Amino acid sequence: MREMHRKYVFTGKLELKSGMHIGGGQTNLRGTDSPVVLTPEGDPFIPGSSFKGVFRSTVEKLVNVIPHRSTCFLFFEGDCPTTKQEDFNNQRRGSSWSETQLVKILKKELCDTCKLFGSPYAASKVFFSDLYVEEWAEATQLRDGVAIDRDSERAVDRLKYDYEVISGGSIFKMEIVLESPSDIDLGLVCIGLSEFVSGMAGIGGMRSRGLGNCQLIDLTAYESDLRDPDQLQRYLLGKRLGEKMTKVDDMTDFLEKHIGALLTDVSEG
Ligand SMILES: [Zn+2]
Repeated sequence: MREMHRKYVFTGKLELKSGMHIGGGQTNLRGTDSPVVLTPEGDPFIPGSSFKGVFRSTVEKLVNVIPHRSTCFLFFEGDCPTTKQEDFNNQRRGSSWSETQLVKILKKELCDTCKLFGSPYAASKVFFSDLYVEEWAEATQLRDGVAIDRDSERAVDRLKYDYEVISGGSIFKMEIVLESPSDIDLGLVCIGLSEFVSGMAGIGGMRSRGLGNCQLIDLTAYESDLRDPDQLQRYLLGKRLGEKMTKVDDMTDFLEKHIGALLTDVSEG
């Protein structure tokens, strides 16, 4: 089991800047279909696993162009065992690697995004809660394959829709927990957060039709180093997040610092 040292909690609100397609109850990890589904009560929510998939691919696209960092997602030329599981498992079976040796090999060969987000060979260090809706207008009504605005009864943009959309302006509550990260892990999470803060990342399918634009607002980070006895005590005794952990004062500075470190760090993590 991994030793817990530093811990970070990121909270914020994901605000839809455009409508978002509501899916039919099954989620899609790569975000090609809508990650929004309805609770039995009819309220939309984004399953944490779906948001994780979208967040991961957002990070992977950028890691691809950062020197010394690796992801086995696109155009990969490295040795990440995730991309060649059968080979790797055969090699492992035919070898006499001890557990320690295996850990060492994985540390060296797993790509940066598999180390952070998990793979068949490594547990994830980052955890995404389900995103429940805080504010929303009811889903746009669909009639005769044309989207109708419920108030005006006029067809919206005269576009043909054969799916349901949740309207722009809807707000979902986000919480991400990062446990025992390396500096690289922390930098990668900051890259993902920064993309959502700047509204560059989208969520859900049909983005070419202008759906799924969103922006992360009110981003707040809390940090704690559980190796420090005072911080550990505070963490264990505190009731609310702000009591348990230290709130980061300047989020812009926090993101800049950790992304900057990632751009200059050439270590293996
Ligand atoms: Zn990988």
